[in-house]
Parts: sequence; structure tokens; C-alpha cells
Amino acid sequence: MNNQNPVFIPGPTNIPDRLRRAMSIQTIDHRAPDFADILDPLYNDLKKEFKTEDGSVIMFPSTGTGGWEASIVNTLSPGDKILIARYGMFSHRWIDLCQRHNLDVEIIECEWGTGAPTDLFAARLAKDSNQEIKAVLVTHNETATGVKSDIAGVRKALDASNHNALLFVDCVSSLASMDFKMQEWGVDLAVSGSQKGFMLSAGLAIVGVSPKTKVAMETATSPRCFFDFKDMMTANQNGGYPYTPPVQLLVGLRESLDMLFEEGLDNVFARHFRLAEGIRQAVAAWGFKLCAKNPDLYSDSVSAIYVPDGFDSNVLTDHLYDAYDVSFGIGLGEMNKIAFRIGHLGSLSDVMALAGIATIEMAMKDLNYPIELGSGVAAAQEYYRNSR
Ligand SMILES: *Cc1c(COP(=O)(O)O)cnc(C)c1O
Repeated sequence: MNNQNPVFIPGPTNIPDRLRRAMSIQTIDHRAPDFADILDPLYNDLKKEFKTEDGSVIMFPSTGTGGWEASIVNTLSPGDKILIARYGMFSHRWIDLCQRHNLDVEIIECEWGTGAPTDLFAARLAKDSNQEIKAVLVTHNETATGVKSDIAGVRKALDASNHNALLFVDCVSSLASMDFKMQEWGVDLAVSGSQKGFMLSAGLAIVGVSPKTKVAMETATSPRCFFDFKDMMTANQNGGYPYTPPVQLLVGLRESLDMLFEEGLDNVFARHFRLAEGIRQAVAAWGFKLCAKNPDLYSDSVSAIYVPDGFDSNVLTDHLYDAYDVSFGIGLGEMNKIAFRIGHLGSLSDVMALAGIATIEMAMKDLNYPIELGSGVAAAQEYYRNSR
């Protein structure tokens, strides 16, 4: 395996040298009095990332999946009704997790490649006059299909019927790469992780919590221990953790936030848009189609791309790895074998994106795809040159 090549999987993402160096440190005593000097600024700066002033942020040694579990067990009770749409592998997995926690999960099935169905949500919520639905769950950026959903639209759907349900959003593959407005969108619980936009390894579930969620915690009866928000908040207020935190990752997160703020969040989002758009130009030049059904849905952190009929996308990603030592995302769930994914979030430049596009072309040519070497590269080159 060539460890100079970037990865083009949509998480874990490339870890810049600066972050790898920052994390190469001796153990820090998390019970020492000055541990709070690391923790407090992290939480304050994460609030800027989530764009919340009245909310709080907490972090668990875990991954995004742990963040999902934490969201459910702290706010709901077994048997509670929740509303969620399935439009990709990640929304599917969140559904599965809720079902295993014995929630009453009402699912709106959507075609993969579409996003959160705001109209269907609005219609269903309007009919729920007894307010039986306790929470609406939405995946902001469906990493399996490269689809971004309209969270403000879901908030509108809730408000239109004066519905009191909590709004939970998975922003694991969007936070710190695409704009996220927790407070403006009225998000009650936002789940993210360290290994995507934050450019770190997996190991932190990063969760934003609204004041309304703190109230819901008081009456939720689902059993919880490791993921208990209250234990975590109390320990954090006293400058510590209820158990051992991954201190190297926390120090890495400090450096990551510094990098993101030095670049400027708006510039970070603009860079992700540019990188994504160049890749979309390449895909169009190849004559291939994105899984995302229309431009409003295009994700700036990952593109899922259909391969032409008769080809197997797993053979393509295997060949890329075997022949060229480079990883791209496979098609997940319904997209398996028919689509592959380019992760373009985190630490990525025009140069890296062009190398990825060029290597895909070589692998496709090797596998007798109908492709002209350089066609996608040229389209991306023109776009990158002209959009600087
Ligand atoms: C990566 C990801 C997750 C979480 O996965 P983990 O492997 O548990 O970190 C959840 N949702 C989305 C949309 C993701 O992209």
C-alpha cells in the first residue's frame, strides 16, 4: 500500500501533517486541574462550527453511530413514535438503530438519490393533531448517494403545523465542510464525528444539543449510562470527563478548529463547493450520471456516480486499489455494484482532486469503459483554472 496517496473515501478523510504532528504527544492527565483549559475552548469553538449560541456541545469517545445512539437514548422512551425518511444507507442505519431501541419508527420510503421529503413530512405532521410524533430524524448529507437535504425546509414543515416534535439531524459528513445552521434551522440535536470534515481519525462523537432537548432529557426513560448527556455535561462543567477521554484526539481537534478558523468557515465551504463542482464537471464530461437526482441535492462533500450498464462498480474500486494504490468509496446498499463514490471532503486541494479524476480514468480504460483518457481531467482543469 502506498501511503503517500490521498484517500478518496468519504471518511475517514486525509489527515493533514499539521494534525498528525499535533496529536503526537505524551499522555495528558485528564483529571489534572488544567485539563479544563483544553476542554472549555473546544466546546466554545464547536458551537461556532454548529452555528448555535443557545445550544451546547458534548463529545463522547465514539463514532457517528454512537452519536445516533446517544441522541435516541437521552431524549426518548421505548415506544415513542418517531418519523424518519429512508433515502440511503445512512438514513437506513439510523432507522435500524431506532428500531432496535424499540421506538415506534414511522418510515417514509423515498427513492435513493432524493433527499428529505419536506412536503411529505409537512403532510404527515399536519395530520398528527395529537402530537404523537416525538421526533423527526433527518440525515443532512446522505453519504451513500451524495445527496444534501433541506433542513430549513423540514423545520418549516414542523412549524407549519405548530408541531412540537424534536428535530434531530445527522451532520456527520457535512459539518465543517458544508454550511450547517443548527440554531437558525431549529435543530434540537445534531450528530457529527471527528473523521470527516474535521480531518481526524474516528474516535469522537460530537453532538450539539438545544435547550429544548435538555428539557426532553428530564422525562426520557430509555436506559443510558455511557452516553448519558447529564453525566457528561456535569463532568464537563467541572472541567473533566465521566471516564477517560481520548486526549490526543481532543488536542487534534483543537488544531483542526484552528485550521478551519484560519481558512475561514465560509472559505472552507466555498473550497468544498469548488472541489465538488470540478468533479461534477469531470463526471459530466465522461457522460456519467450522479445518483443525486437534481442540482439542488448535490452534496459538496461526496459524489456518488453510476457506472454504465454492464459494469460493476466494485470491480472498478477494487482495480483502483490493486493497480494504483488508491481508495474510492464503494456503492453502499442499493447502490452496491451500480455506483462508486468520490469523497471530496476535509483536507483536499485542486491538485489532489485532479489526481483522483486522472486515476479513475486510467482504471476505467484498463477495464474497457467507454472513456477517453483526459476528458474528465480537462473539464475539471478548465473549471479549477477559471474559478480561482
Ligand atoms: C460516516 C457517517 C456516519 C457515522 O459513521 P461512523 O462510522 O459510526 O462514524 C453517520 N452518518 C453519516 C451520514 C455518515 O457519513
